[in-house]
Amino acid sequence: MKADVIIVGGGITGSSIAYGLAQRNQRVIVLDGEDRDHRASRANFGLVWVQGKGANMPEYQFWSRRSSERWSDFSRVLFDVAGQDPHFEQRGGLVFCLSDEEFDARHMSLQKLHEKLGDDTADWEMIERSGVEKLMPGVKLGSEVCGASLGHRDGHANPLRLLSALQTGIQKLGGIIMSARVQTIQRDGSGFSLETGRGRYSAHRIVIAAGIGSGPLGEQVGLDVPLRPQRGQILVTERLIPILPLPASGLRQTREGSVMIGATHEDVGFDASTTGLAAAKLSVRALRVIPSLADARLVRQWAGLRVLTPDGCPVYAQSESHPGAFIALCHSGVTLAAVHSEIIAQAVIDGELPPSLEVFNQRRFDVPKAA
Ligand SMILES: Cc1cc2nc3c(=O)[nH]c(=O)nc-3n(C[C@H](O)[C@H](O)[C@H](O)COP(=O)(O)OP(=O)(O)OC[C@H]3O[C@@H](n4cnc5c(N)ncnc54)[C@H](O)[C@@H]3O)c2cc1C
Repeated sequence: MKADVIIVGGGITGSSIAYGLAQRNQRVIVLDGEDRDHRASRANFGLVWVQGKGANMPEYQFWSRRSSERWSDFSRVLFDVAGQDPHFEQRGGLVFCLSDEEFDARHMSLQKLHEKLGDDTADWEMIERSGVEKLMPGVKLGSEVCGASLGHRDGHANPLRLLSALQTGIQKLGGIIMSARVQTIQRDGSGFSLETGRGRYSAHRIVIAAGIGSGPLGEQVGLDVPLRPQRGQILVTERLIPILPLPASGLRQTREGSVMIGATHEDVGFDASTTGLAAAKLSVRALRVIPSLADARLVRQWAGLRVLTPDGCPVYAQSESHPGAFIALCHSGVTLAAVHSEIIAQAVIDGELPPSLEVFNQRRFDVPKAA
């Protein structure tokens, strides 16, 4: 069978696009790698996050907003299709400030972004400690908490439930998910032929969404993207009574009750091990915000690798040398899942990305060749 579209990579990005394609009656095959691959989708924090994004590229802020606006419908329909609830909640999100200097710096950076974006009204506010206490009744805040920024568009979801729901949704809509690492990609008439360790697959179009493993695949179709990994470590507590009614960057409580504490930003190459130092740093900061967490037992610590482009913004592009071959990369795959399933999926069917996404083309990283 020749598929309409093969998606290379079955993480949240590839699965969101595949799900959107299957919803649009495309014959989709997802070819996914192996358990030992670096898989950001199984290691992330689960925020659907907008505040502060796009300081170096305003379009990234607008793109994140478009996704956050669609997340509620996206999540509801996904629940209907897959029968699995991604546990999405959108009541805003906090960034705690632990000194007046942090508060002022946060205010200034959000204000600067606001002016750059030219928004009439702000979709965030700075709130003093008393305001944070009102938002979190019953929680005794650490003495250093002097306030927070509150982003009204922010929310969170359970990323493992999201991935599972997407993959179930793809299959319920007739799509196929295979564990088969793609080795080579070749032109095949008007389409593509993909060689894997488990046979050859062909399709009219392909989307490379293989996370940190996308580099060697993109090169084969003229879509070179310089990528680098960045390690993020997360701690998880035992299940607690509800204490955090809304998520924060660095602290969020799952619907089951676990508190997630994270995440570090470490440039250590492909080393995805956990460290005691990170556990100590994350714990200390969390206890400065909510001292009572000292009584909670930690039950897990893990590390994952973020998929980072040189400017940290997403890449969406169609190959000029191999039309029909697309690439989709980002380091906010949970946040952007809603637009990936709708706008990117439709663009693949249309055979062209909308002009508004031109700014995300990988050509922005091309280094002029020395004469
Ligand atoms: C610590 C941490 C915290 C994060 N927190 C958030 C957050 O709060 N909110 C948010 O929006 N984002 C967050 N992210 C980012 C988010 O996890 C990623 O943007 C997202 O998971 C990327 O998904 P992906 O599908 O592109 O990549 P991945 O999940 O890495 O998936 C890539 C897939 O491609 C497969 N693959 C690789 N090579 C091949 C090949 N040759 N053939 C076939 N398949 C292949 C792999 O097996 C893998 O399954 C976080 C990331 C980390 C590490």
